Amino acid sequence: MDNSIKVCDECGSEFLGASSAMAGLCPECAHVLYGYENCAHVFENGRCIKCLWDGSVSRFISENKENQP
Ligand SMILES: [Zn+2]
Ligand SMILES: [Zn+2]
Repeated sequence: MDNSIKVCDECGSEFLGASSAMAGLCPECAHVLYGYENCAHVFENGRCIKCLWDGSVSRFISENKENQP
């Protein structure tokens, strides 16, 4: 179990290491970029209490989402 807090390379949000399949990406970015299972985010005070993602979305990902049908 990895309880360390990491910083996502993509969106810059902090996240809980154990919550993501990828060491350098939060569950949200790992899901959007690589199709890994996302966290079922539960937001409290502006961040997910399960994975600690703060809702940040990188420019690359937001543009990618817009371009999808
Ligand atoms: Zn991220
Ligand atoms: Zn989450």
